[in-house]
Amino acid sequence: DTSVNILGVEFINKTKQEFVFEILSRIEKQEKTFAVTANPEIVMYARNHSSYMKILEHAHMVIPDGIGVVKGAQILGKPLKERVPGYELLLELLAEADKKALKVYFLGAKESVVTKAVSNVAAQYPNIDIVGYRDGYFDLKDEKVLEEVKQKKPDMVFAALGFPKQELWISQYLEVADKGFLMGVGGSFDVLSG
Ligand code: UDP
Repeated sequence: DTSVNILGVEFINKTKQEFVFEILSRIEKQEKTFAVTANPEIVMYARNHSSYMKILEHAHMVIPDGIGVVKGAQILGKPLKERVPGYELLLELLAEADKKALKVYFLGAKESVVTKAVSNVAAQYPNIDIVGYRDGYFDLKDEKVLEEVKQKKPDMVFAALGFPKQELWISQYLEVADKGFLMGVGGSFDVLSG
């Protein structure tokens, strides 16, 4: 596998199924894991914001989302195996969480949106242990939310706060939490609530 560096961002070269496998094995070992699904917009943002680039450097896996990333790798002569859309990866992980009855926390979007998304998830994946959820309209300086989530000891936390807010929150969480797989999922709860 190894990785492909595109404009300073190191992408892991795995298929969607390989990412799922790696994520589940890290959850089993209770290893903290931070995944970012990065598209060209995120790469360009990171180039212009060094603090965000640092966050990407500390992520355990940067996943190639967006056809632009796959094309970029091709042009560099280091082709990536495939494009891994964040929303598809989210659905795969929910299916696995259902099989294994994992603890999942949903953070982000408007309150009505996340409530509906969670009730749809509960109906479709009845074995997921949904340990909590809340909207994404809070101040990042407010550490209450970090504690609130940490206390639930989730195996997976999906943060739908939009970028860069979701990655900033996740990097704060990883400093205080003992375990968990965390991934920013942008506007996914809006889709799940539909
Ligand atoms: N959002 C949030 N808190 C904020 C700003 C945005 O929870 O402070 C939510 C918003 O309701 C939406 C998602 O984050 O559900 C952002 O989706 P968008 O598609 O804009 O993000 P992107 O996919 O571009 O990161």
